[in-house]
Amino acid sequence: MKAPPFAYARASTLSEAHALLADPDAKPIAGGQSLLASLAFRLSQPTLLVDIGRISELSGVTLLGDHLRIGALTTHAALGRNDLIRRHVPLLADAASLIAHPAIRNRGTIGGSLAYADPAAELPACVVALDATIIVGSARGERRIAAADFFTGLLSTVLADGELITAVEVPCRAATDRMTIAEIARRSGDYAMAGVAVKLAMNGPQVSAARLVMFGVGEGPVLAVHAMAALVGQPMEASAIETAQAALDRDIDPPADHHGGPDTKRHLARVVLGRALNKIATEAA
Ligand code: FAD
Repeated sequence: MKAPPFAYARASTLSEAHALLADPDAKPIAGGQSLLASLAFRLSQPTLLVDIGRISELSGVTLLGDHLRIGALTTHAALGRNDLIRRHVPLLADAASLIAHPAIRNRGTIGGSLAYADPAAELPACVVALDATIIVGSARGERRIAAADFFTGLLSTVLADGELITAVEVPCRAATDRMTIAEIARRSGDYAMAGVAVKLAMNGPQVSAARLVMFGVGEGPVLAVHAMAALVGQPMEASAIETAQAALDRDIDPPADHHGGPDTKRHLARVVLGRALNKIATEAA
């Protein structure tokens, strides 16, 4: 299908974008990697597309004390190769390599991925695992939203009409933190059938805090609180990993999708969690 007719305007500053987006029928476009497909399928019919792709205030990665500020226009490819991200938040760099293919990674942005909120996307799960803060702004002012409060359901977030994600603030890892991401997909570059983003704080061999966020098995990123509780206070060894895998059943209620029914998804979630935790256990050993 063809996209419905729309007008196009390129904003060169944030305030210009905010003014254009005050029109309730306007929508921002960043990399266009999800929006253009949804226009072609007529899932979205904005009358005005506001191109935010050249707004310098939305660009760049900066180290600010104990956290990184990542501009909304940072592409997946840039996440993967940025030195600050690789050093301080390697989970995001690792996640980038799992997203689609190079052509999509060169255009798609972190702001677009978070705003689109695909339940099988890597970056929404990562920002929840990392306890990031999402900064949004509009003509009405700025809001700071904890990533765990940002995603509200299938393809939906707390973003209000006219609001833009401007940046994501992510705490830098401590020397004792361990992070990883794992997923199962039919083919390299496909959206995940099941995946997990993991951040563990270690106290010697023991897990002192855990954040496990599942993706591809719910309507958005799922914080696996029972599996997390099963790990805390335990050494990272096989018995703790098995207990966490068993506890995961209480955390997820996967809907059937084109990859399979709920039982298949539960099985894939347990497998992917086991792979991620075993990888950390092996590295720690
Ligand atoms: P756009 O397409 O420009 O916009 C997406 C939505 O976000 C629109 O509603 C737009 O209005 C809104 N938006 C954009 N920027 C902002 C902002 N700063 N503030 C507020 N709203 C904003 N993603 C994955 O995570 N994993 C995958 O495996 C994966 N595979 C893909 C495979 C294919 C073939 C394709 C085409 C895409 C795939 N994607 C995947 C999606 C890709 O990562 C997109 O880049 C991303 O979802 C959207 O980023 P974008 O910059 O292109 O946003």
